[in-house]
Amino acid sequence: MPEIAHKGYRPTIWEELAGAPHPSLSFQSSFWHSVAPAGPAAQRLAGEARTEIAVVGGGFLGLSAALHLAEAGRTVTLLEADEAGFGASGRNTGFVVPNLLTSVDLDDVRGEFGAEKADLLLRMLGESGELVFDLIRRHGIDCWAKQTGWMQPIHSPVKRDWLEERVRRWQDLGRPVKLLSREEAVAETGSEAYHGAFLDPTGGHLNPLAFVRGLAAAAVKAGVTLFIDSRAKEIGRHGAEWRLKTDHGTLVADKVLLATNGTGGGLAPRAEGTQFPITLFQVATQQLDPDLRKSVLPNDRCSADTRKELIAYRWTDDNRIVTGGLLGNPLGSTDRGRSYHLRRLEALLPQLPELRADFAWQGRIAVARNYMPRLMRLGDGAFSAIACNGRGIAMTTALGRKLALWLDGGSNEDLPLPVTDPDPVLFPKLAPLAFSLWLPFSRRQDARDLRSS
Ligand SMILES: Cc1cc2nc3c(=O)[nH]c(=O)nc-3n(C[C@H](O)[C@H](O)[C@H](O)COP(=O)(O)OP(=O)(O)OC[C@H]3O[C@@H](n4cnc5c(N)ncnc54)[C@H](O)[C@@H]3O)c2cc1C
Repeated sequence: MPEIAHKGYRPTIWEELAGAPHPSLSFQSSFWHSVAPAGPAAQRLAGEARTEIAVVGGGFLGLSAALHLAEAGRTVTLLEADEAGFGASGRNTGFVVPNLLTSVDLDDVRGEFGAEKADLLLRMLGESGELVFDLIRRHGIDCWAKQTGWMQPIHSPVKRDWLEERVRRWQDLGRPVKLLSREEAVAETGSEAYHGAFLDPTGGHLNPLAFVRGLAAAAVKAGVTLFIDSRAKEIGRHGAEWRLKTDHGTLVADKVLLATNGTGGGLAPRAEGTQFPITLFQVATQQLDPDLRKSVLPNDRCSADTRKELIAYRWTDDNRIVTGGLLGNPLGSTDRGRSYHLRRLEALLPQLPELRADFAWQGRIAVARNYMPRLMRLGDGAFSAIACNGRGIAMTTALGRKLALWLDGGSNEDLPLPVTDPDPVLFPKLAPLAFSLWLPFSRRQDARDLRSS
């Protein structure tokens, strides 16, 4: 049987109820897993090892931080519980999105972090698509990367003001984003359902597992020691050192960065408890007639709309469409989950034939109360960063680089985030249920928006 979740990680009853990863929807069952080149060879930590900086978690965040630290000349060791990309980084839709979630506007960032940090964060985010594609070019990563643009079409005319404001605000920051008219949005997406769109030409899409494995290979080449199958189970301070214990060894470090995306399995429970875990469902269709590419996303952009329960879709190089979202059924019926997302896409794009899920898998995201990235202090020289919030490829890769510059001796002023203490949600054990409860309300809001069209 394929692995269900992260090794050594047991979903709680609440996560089960909220649709914890199902055995048949594993890392190995993903489409990306079937086509991504292998990651770099690595071993498990055994005995005691010493390093200057320990990074825990081999997703985009941990690997980007480790790579940039090694490039700055630091001695870095990365502990990964399974293999690089085993978490959300290897299982996502592959959209490179240099933007915030729909429900977060630029003023929210200023309200949360203050004007100076917000400006740094927004600048970092705006440039994050360019960073991702530059890294891919610089390290020669073979990951089907297409910098063809990320689109966010509006599903109802009631979002028109929001769209105009969003475009204007990013343009004011100097970003080359565009507003697409209804006609342009219909032509670009292939769907008559849309009324306009946000376009960021610096975004795009890629094979996420191939990208994260490529980052791992680049990190190893730059000098990072990568240990896989090495879940950190305890972290403790002993004199001036930090000690991270796995089942088979101990890593001793001067500084530690946890990048476990809230799936640390209790390694830093207060930091993990600041996040709401959400399980997302992904499907890749059968291979479709390449002629359909002339009417569906003809410029090979990717599209994720403004519904609260958004519809996102993109092509793969071998003419499949990848889509997905929240579980159709919180109790985890895999068949319903599969067909739910395909039927939504067929309704949006009637030119498509009946779709079949040749591949189906699940992944876990972590979302903060305010949908903002977090950098939390665990002790002197130890930090936990979580920046997923469902739009993480560009954000986490860019933040990993910023954290590397900071851990390399950069100043707090240059950090795009404040360093805070972990403040877990009130009942962290119930957090996995939050989004299942939220889903019916979101669907009602989406339906209201559509009725007012
Ligand atoms: C289905 C799905 C679709 C998505 N689609 C998109 C998209 O299209 N675009 C986008 O930008 N974002 C998307 N996201 C979000 C994006 O994937 C994440 O934001 C991003 O991958 C987070 O990266 P990360 O490095 O923080 O975490 P992860 O990739 O989750 O990495 C954390 C790593 O830490 C390891 N780990 C955990 N605990 C320990 C421990 N104790 N010891 C050692 N290792 C440990 C895990 O095994 C894992 O490999 C999606 C997510 C999902 C699940």
